[in-house]
Amino acid sequence: MTQNHQFEVVVVGAGGAGLMAGLYASKTAKTAVISKLYPTRSHTGAAQGGISAALGNLEEDRVEWHTYDSVKGSDYLGDQDSIEFMCQEAPQAILELEHMGLPFDRTPEGKISQRPFGGHTNNVTGKPVRRAAHAADRTGHMILQTLYQQCLKNNVNFYDEFQVLDLLTKDGKACGVVAVELATGELHVFHAKAVIFATGGHGRMWEITSNAYAYTGDGAAITFRRGIPLEDMEFFQFHPTGIYKLGILITEGVRGEGGILINGKGERFMPKYAPTVKDLASRDVISRAIYMEIREGRGVNGSNYIYLDVRPEVVNKFAALDGRTNPDGSPIKVTAEELLHKLPDIVDFNRVYLGIDPMTQPMPIQPTAHYTMGGIPTNRYGQVVVDDQGTIYPGLYAAGEVACVSIHGANRLGTNSLLDLVVFGKYSGLKAAEYAKSADFTPLPNDPTAFASQQFDALRNGDGKENAFDIGRELKKVMFDDVGVFRIEEGMKNALTKLAELRERFKHVRVNDSGKTFNTELLNAWELGNLLELAEVVATCALNRKESRGGHAREDYSKRDDANWLKHTLITRKNGKLEISYKPVVITKYQPKERVY
Ligand SMILES: Cc1cc2nc3c(=O)[nH]c(=O)nc-3n(C[C@H](O)[C@H](O)[C@H](O)COP(=O)(O)OP(=O)(O)OC[C@H]3O[C@@H](n4cnc5c(N)ncnc54)[C@H](O)[C@@H]3O)c2cc1C
Repeated sequence: MTQNHQFEVVVVGAGGAGLMAGLYASKTAKTAVISKLYPTRSHTGAAQGGISAALGNLEEDRVEWHTYDSVKGSDYLGDQDSIEFMCQEAPQAILELEHMGLPFDRTPEGKISQRPFGGHTNNVTGKPVRRAAHAADRTGHMILQTLYQQCLKNNVNFYDEFQVLDLLTKDGKACGVVAVELATGELHVFHAKAVIFATGGHGRMWEITSNAYAYTGDGAAITFRRGIPLEDMEFFQFHPTGIYKLGILITEGVRGEGGILINGKGERFMPKYAPTVKDLASRDVISRAIYMEIREGRGVNGSNYIYLDVRPEVVNKFAALDGRTNPDGSPIKVTAEELLHKLPDIVDFNRVYLGIDPMTQPMPIQPTAHYTMGGIPTNRYGQVVVDDQGTIYPGLYAAGEVACVSIHGANRLGTNSLLDLVVFGKYSGLKAAEYAKSADFTPLPNDPTAFASQQFDALRNGDGKENAFDIGRELKKVMFDDVGVFRIEEGMKNALTKLAELRERFKHVRVNDSGKTFNTELLNAWELGNLLELAEVVATCALNRKESRGGHAREDYSKRDDANWLKHTLITRKNGKLEISYKPVVITKYQPKERVY
C-alpha cells in the first residue's frame, strides 16, 4: 500500500548540502529530509582535508585571491559571478559552523587553524596559502555531525533509509517525489511545493574510485529522466592520490602538510610540471603528471603507481629546499607525533589496508575517480535552470555535488566542495522555503507511483539472462580505461558502443530476491540503471568536447580552445536520443589566461 505525506519543502539527501538546506528551509517551512542512508553515513562524512575560506588566520589572505584561484582552477569554465558569491560568503559560513559547535583545530592563539591545499595561493607571490580550515583529517565528519544535531534541534522531519525513485511534476512544476521505504519495500508519495535534490555524485561508474557505494547518481538520473538537462557532464575529477588498487582517498592535506610525490626512480617529479606550486598544483595537473611518469616507465617497480612520501625527514628536507617556513619565519621541523595528530585517519588507513606505516614508509598511490563537477544546472540560489537563458524550473532546486552552479567548472579546487555545500545548501533551503510560502500545492499527477513501479517491475520480471554484477563490473572497467584521466576519440567511441551493449543487456537482468524487507539486490540493480544512464551521458559529452580543459584531457585535442569551447554543455534526452546544446560562461573580472602553476 502506498503511503502519502505532505510537506512544503522536501529535501532529498542528508549530506552536508541536504542538511544545510533542511536546516534553513525548516526555519520557515514544514520540511522533510529523505535519505537512503542514515544521515551521518553520507559521503560528506568521508571528507578529510578541510573547507576553504579566506579567513587569513595564519597569514595574509583575501576573498579576491580565493575567487581568482577558483576561477583559474576551474580552467575558466566556472561562472565567475557565482564563484565570487561563494568566496565572499565563505568566511561567514565557517564562523557559522563554528558557532554551531564544529570543533575546528586551533592555532596556539585559539584561532581556527588553516592548512595549504592544491591551487590555493597568495596571488602576489604565487606560493601556497593556508586557506583550508580543518578538524584533523575528519572535517566532513564533523560538519555532518554538527549539522545533523542542528537539524534535530530544529525539528526537521527525517525519513531515514527511504530511497527516492522518481520526481513528480505537473504543469511544468515540481510537486513531489516517490520513495521506497527500505525496511518494508512500501512506496511513499511525498507531495511538496518545493523539492531540493542534494544526492551527491556518480563516481561509482569508474573502477578505481574514492567514492562511497551510494554514489550512483540517483538524483541526476531521476531528474534527467524527467526531462531536466544536465550540465558539463564531461567534467569529472580524478584525484591524484588514491591508495593503489583500492582507490581510497589520501587527502591532499598530506601534501598540505609537506608530503612529496616520488616516482619509481626516487625522483620528486612535480617541479617539472608545476615549477611554482609543485606538489600543490591543482588536481587535474597532478593526475596527468602521475600518468605521464607511469607511461614513460617511471612508475614504482615498472608498475602503475608512484609514491606519496610524508615521512618527517622527507617533509623537513623538501621544506628547507623549497624555502617554506612556519608563519613566524622559523624553519619547518615536523615530527612524527605532530603529523600523527594532524593526519590520524590517513595513517590508520595505510596501516589497516596496506600494512604500511606512513611515518617510516612511502605510500603507494594512483589517481582515483573522485568528484562530479557536472550535474543538475542551477543558479547561485540553488534554483534549477533549464536552458541558456537561465529559465527557472518552478519548485525544483539542487545543491551540493549533484548540482552544477557552476562553481568548479572544469576542475574543482580541493576544499571548495565542502564550502559549496554549506553556501548553496543554505541558499537553496532559503529560496525553497520562500517559494513555498508564496506558492500553492500543485495537484499530484494521476497515478503518481506508476513510473517508479514500472522501473521496479522491469527488474523483477526480466528474463534473467543477464547478471547485474557482471554488467556493473564491465561498466566500471570501460569507463576507467576509455573515459578516464586521458581520453581519445577512438576510446570514447569504443566506450559508447560498449555502453549501448550494456544498456541492452541490462534489460535482461532479473532480481532473484522477491522479498520486501531491505531488498538490496533490487535497489543495487536500480542504482546500476542510473549509472548506465549517466555513463552514456558522460561519454557522449566527452566525445563531443573537442578540446582539453581541466579534468577533461583529450590526447587528440590537447589544447584548451577558448575560441570554440569556452561554453557549458547542456544535455537532454528527446524522443530517446541525446541532444546537446550550450550556454555561455559568465565572465566578470577574469579573462581566460593560460594556467601556469
Ligand atoms: C573521500 C572523500 C574525501 C573528500 N574530501 C573533501 C575535502 O576535504 N574537502 C572538500 O571540500 N571536499 C571533499 N570531498 C568532496 C565532498 O566531500 C563531497 O563533494 C560532498 O561531501 C558531497 O556532499 P553532498 O551533500 O552533495 O552529498 P553526500 O554527502 O554524499 O550526501 C548525499 C545524500 O543523498 C542521499 N541520497 C542519494 N541518493 C538518494 C536517493 N535516491 N534517495 C534518497 N536519498 C538519496 C544519501 O543518503 C546522502 O544522504 C571529498 C570526497 C570524498 C569522496
